[in-house]
Amino acid sequence: MNITRRELGRLAAAAAITRMVPWAHSQDRTIGYCIVGLGRISMQHFMPGIKPSKRCRVTALVSGHRDKAEKMAAEYNVPAASIYGYENYDAIAGNKDIDAVYIALPNSMHAEYTIRAAKAGKHVLCEKPMATSVADSRAMIEACRKVAKKLMIAYRCQYEPTNLRAIQLIRDGKLGKIQAIESANGFNIRAGEWRLNRKLAGGGPLMDVGVYSLNACRYLTGEEPREFRGYSSVMDQDGRFTEVEENLSWTMKFPSGVVASCNTSYGVGMPGFYRVHGTKGMLHVEPAFGYQGQRLTARIQGEEPLDEPNPNKDPSQFTPQADHLAECILQNKEPKSPGQDGLQDMIHMAAIYRSCGRA
Ligand code: NAD
Repeated sequence: MNITRRELGRLAAAAAITRMVPWAHSQDRTIGYCIVGLGRISMQHFMPGIKPSKRCRVTALVSGHRDKAEKMAAEYNVPAASIYGYENYDAIAGNKDIDAVYIALPNSMHAEYTIRAAKAGKHVLCEKPMATSVADSRAMIEACRKVAKKLMIAYRCQYEPTNLRAIQLIRDGKLGKIQAIESANGFNIRAGEWRLNRKLAGGGPLMDVGVYSLNACRYLTGEEPREFRGYSSVMDQDGRFTEVEENLSWTMKFPSGVVASCNTSYGVGMPGFYRVHGTKGMLHVEPAFGYQGQRLTARIQGEEPLDEPNPNKDPSQFTPQADHLAECILQNKEPKSPGQDGLQDMIHMAAIYRSCGRA
């Protein structure tokens, strides 16, 4: 092979860059996701969110329903050999096209499938709530740490532009000193859902949709709450709430003195929202936690009122969320919503349940 002096120089420079920046070649590489659990969130939101991505693609599926998996495989160009059942899930270890797994199973299964993914040498993006206990959450973090694989919790709102704008306004001091936050998130649940089964869900609406309010209060303040007072109730004696709470309201106090009051429910639809009150103004995001259509309004002293609807109907949070883990893998960075973020919420939710007498 004849290599000119100039080509040799170029190759030497590229090799030097690769030594200094180990991910230099990674810019062209895409990350392959194995989707574990073909339910509503994975099929209707997460997988369509990957379609426009330049950083990642769906390369494998795990499902208990082969026919459903084959249909999705055809849509996402997944080869038949990369369709797994729960019984041969561990065989993903031998599939080089899988970099990360996305776990979209009932809550109580998150820990087992995360730990098995780590043992198979894969990174993990796990749906919220991270698990059904603090002990399981810690075991998930440890399993991924031991094999140096990333663990990210799918807190999609942390990748959504309107929520990011609200955080920025607060960090820029536009609202002055934050004093209070109000938030709510709830829906009227159908009978027969696994979410009503305590063993599978770990808890009721707090674990499922209330966690959005809790996580938001944490990312809006940048603080960890220290004191909790909660009340739970069951009003509809129609057989749905024999194992989990129907309504739960709680207040929590942050070290700075900010007090947040939050409501969640499986008995009534509550538009997911938050309102943040500061010494110089107030901001309100509603809807805050939906899949699309976020809107931020704010009244800030000495400024024109803000009204910023987000008309983006595309999966404006699922793509950046999937891309973020891909980037963290390629650049060896810690995810913005790591396992520790999920663990903090689990610790706080356990405290909220204790304060309601539902430990
Ligand atoms: P779903 O019921 O639609 O899907 C669950 C999947 O798990 C199905 O494919 C089902 O076949 C499979 N499964 C395997 N074993 C099961 C068992 N023993 N019982 C029931 N299903 C079993 O649920 P979903 O709404 O997609 O929720 C899945 C996870 O995603 C949950 O942890 C939930 O909290 C989370 N989630 C997140 C968001 C979000 O916006 N980030 C939205 C909805 C759900």
